[in-house]
Amino acid sequence: MSLTSDVREYAESCGAEIFGVTSADPFVDYRDAVTELENADKLGTASKYINSPMADARNVLSSARSIIVAGVPYKLKVPGDDLPEYDGPHVSLSRYWRHARRVFVNLGESIAEYLQKRGFEAKAVGHRGISHKPAVVRAGVANYGKNTIAYTKEFGSWVWWFVVVTEADLECTDAAGEDICGKCDRCIKACPTEAISAPYRFDLLRCRTYLSHSSQQDVGEIADSLKEKMGTCLGGCEVCQDVCPLNRTVEPIKTNTSFDVSWYGVPLPDRERLPLSDLIELLEGERSHYFKRYATICIGNLEGADDALPVLTRMHDPEDELVRKYADWAIAKIKRGRGERI
Ligand code: SF4
Ligand code: SF4
Repeated sequence: MSLTSDVREYAESCGAEIFGVTSADPFVDYRDAVTELENADKLGTASKYINSPMADARNVLSSARSIIVAGVPYKLKVPGDDLPEYDGPHVSLSRYWRHARRVFVNLGESIAEYLQKRGFEAKAVGHRGISHKPAVVRAGVANYGKNTIAYTKEFGSWVWWFVVVTEADLECTDAAGEDICGKCDRCIKACPTEAISAPYRFDLLRCRTYLSHSSQQDVGEIADSLKEKMGTCLGGCEVCQDVCPLNRTVEPIKTNTSFDVSWYGVPLPDRERLPLSDLIELLEGERSHYFKRYATICIGNLEGADDALPVLTRMHDPEDELVRKYADWAIAKIKRGRGERI
């Protein structure tokens, strides 16, 4: 058996459902597009995750010859999904945040160690190493949708990717990319914050997923006009994937396991909907600054969130100006919603 087949078999034994290999040559299209944004000074703090050096695997491992991509699907049906849906005021929890955790075992590290034991230098690469999407697309295991997300044939976009760079010279699985969208533009129209500025063009600094996972230092203070559009999903956003016809046929994988879900260290139920009363209870304790910050945005955007006014008022922590400002914004919004003068 070839080394490539060995590595594939090993990755599959560790849980990979998708496996591909591409060369370590730079991603030229990605590099050109990002360089244009860098030259126009349009990336801001998003440059931690999108920058031109991420187009070249040799910036991670100078002797790199191959890039391995391995995918694990995370569209799951867990026991909590069988419970009746809560209809009162609630915020939602994204599937990514609930279920991508299932694959937080580090498959990338395991593959890298496997190669190292065979005598090859290899490194697992996270989201700040090389860009994952051009790697999976060039390896022929996914195609770009107009929302810039990578879609597989079998699992749609609900795939968590692991990437490994190695000096081993593996057999590439490259395939020419396909247009999988045709005339569809649902994701562009549905994005609540207009983060998909044009087909295959995306502004990370407007994306709810990025905004909700990033620190204040990364995203700065979120403008009120953007907060208004950010809706009521705690931790992430999947609107552009939920509306996508390519995802419609993807069946959730049934599992008897519920997962330990937490967001910024705050334990959450493994359910799609979190009642406002539960969120208020979570906010009552000493909780993460980031959790409070984003939870207040969700509450401000929620209809019928009057019950949250006392907890929002108690957030007037003189030591935490940012949370105070966000709480004030939510209080004003709730009061305006019930016709009070502010
Ligand atoms: S994840 Fe949400 S905010 Fe980001 S591009 Fe998709 S729909 Fe827009
Ligand atoms: S919603 Fe339509 S345009 Fe967007 S990724 Fe899916 S198929 Fe492509």
